[in-house]
Amino acid sequence: MTYDVVIIGSGPAGYTAGVYTSRAMLKTLILTGIQEGGQLTTTTEVENFPGFPKGIMGPQLMFDMKAQVERFGTKVLAESVKTVTPNGKQFSIVTESATYETKSVIVATGASAMYLGLPSEKTFAGKGVSACATCDGFFFRGKEVVVVGGGDTAMEEATFLTKFAKKVTIIHRREEFRASAIMLERAKIDSKITFLTNKIIEEIVGDTSVTGVRIKDVKTGKSETYPTQGVFLAIGHKPNTEFLKGIVDLDKKGYIPVHGLGIPGDYHSATNVPGIFAAGDCVDFQYRQAVVAAGMGCMAALDVQKWLERYYN
Ligand code: FAD
Ligand code: NAP
Repeated sequence: MTYDVVIIGSGPAGYTAGVYTSRAMLKTLILTGIQEGGQLTTTTEVENFPGFPKGIMGPQLMFDMKAQVERFGTKVLAESVKTVTPNGKQFSIVTESATYETKSVIVATGASAMYLGLPSEKTFAGKGVSACATCDGFFFRGKEVVVVGGGDTAMEEATFLTKFAKKVTIIHRREEFRASAIMLERAKIDSKITFLTNKIIEEIVGDTSVTGVRIKDVKTGKSETYPTQGVFLAIGHKPNTEFLKGIVDLDKKGYIPVHGLGIPGDYHSATNVPGIFAAGDCVDFQYRQAVVAAGMGCMAALDVQKWLERYYN
């Protein structure tokens, strides 16, 4: 059997694309990857997705998106794509357990948390080092933790961690913050949150679990050990496009360039390979918002419809 479109990824981009393609009566398969529902399943309240005046929990939003896409007949399978191979006019999508044939592909694989690259991060993974406060915050009840980063994720993680930890310290490498004003303000007025700016983490120290971080002041060059039992990394994400190397053009950071942006009537979500389209955080290094990813998923689905009509009729 040949699908009209296989969508790789189950974040807001993938599910939105699926709603559009299945409502257009295209035979659609979504392969969710290991993080079914995508990045929003690692957060708590989403306050800026339109339609939810009181906000909505990230996992609930993604659960509802899945239900919506399934309602229109999209098949959703919990498999990860290993490779995509052009096969005549079609594509073979190879996962760990099966191969699927499809006329077109939408890549919506999003992005994953970045780490500092310190060997000690690996030593203490699961023993005090985490990149997901929602997942691991509970284990730090009554403890002191640090959050590394100066963006929205850092502010959100820090604020969330105050539910459990007795003290949360945000460590940021410069004075200015990338976080939006409202998120920064919320963290600043929280009495449990302390800020350390112009500091970088040189090492995470401990024995069987984390006991502190060695931090260096970038202005004075002085280092000190700051006691903590938990280290939450919130320093951004990298696109999940490794498996597409050599198949689709990627930029030097691994994002997928899409063609025709800004050219009316063009396929805005097309990659350099005809029939492969891309949407969401694996393309978008600028906005990285759920509603933007959903919008890009819609664009990719509409482009696929137009492309299939032209190429297969
Ligand atoms: P993702 O949500 O990253 O989903 C990618 C999907 O691809 C996943 O399902 C994954 O399993 C799958 N995948 C990856 N590789 C493969 C593979 N090889 N095969 C198959 N599947 C694969 N944005 C907001 O607008 N509001 C917020 O409040 C907000 N809060 C956030 C909180 C946190 C902690 C984080 C990290 C991000 C937050 N964002 C928020 C950003 C938002 O989550 C992202 O912009 C959005 O999820 C991107 O959607 P996406 O569909 O492109 O990708
Ligand atoms: P981000 O905006 O890219 O911020 C990453 C932060 O980590 C920056 O402050 C950066 O410092 C720092 N950093 C990067 N590499 C570092 C390193 N090696 N060592 C130390 N610090 C490092 O990423 P994000 O906070 O994950 O946000 C991603 C997107 O999701 C954004 O668009 C954001 O708006 C969105 N988001 C939205 C919400 C919300 O609206 N509720 C919540 C979370 C995320 P510099 O500033 O010095 O570069």
